[in-house]
Amino acid sequence: MLTIDRACFGMDPNIFYPTESSDEERAIAICEKCPDQETCLRLALRTKEKYGVWGGTTRGERDYIVKTGMRVENYLKIKCGTEQGLKRHLRMHQVICDDCLKVARRLRKRGK
Ligand code: SF4
Ligand SMILES: [Zn+2]
Repeated sequence: MLTIDRACFGMDPNIFYPTESSDEERAIAICEKCPDQETCLRLALRTKEKYGVWGGTTRGERDYIVKTGMRVENYLKIKCGTEQGLKRHLRMHQVICDDCLKVARRLRKRGK
């Protein structure tokens, strides 16, 4: 059950149904600070939500979790500013956030 402490409480729901991938980043950033993120993602997976950002994930990411059988708690450990975070953006064809761009530059310098 989602609580009134959730980060999106009182916000315009349209934020979480972005039409541009650059707007997804904004919704995901809100979810990443949400105390209900795990509950929200589990709910979306259980109800097979097709649309919107839930628990900081897009539809593509939720499909990936289902397809790979990855545990929700492990998926949520993937953070921006890490190599795994960068790979997630690339896998999902998302706009790469500033923190992950720094990782990409670091890797490029190292010749990876
Ligand atoms: S994780 Fe779910 S409950 Fe929390 S801000 Fe995102 S959409 Fe709202
Ligand atoms: Zn990122």
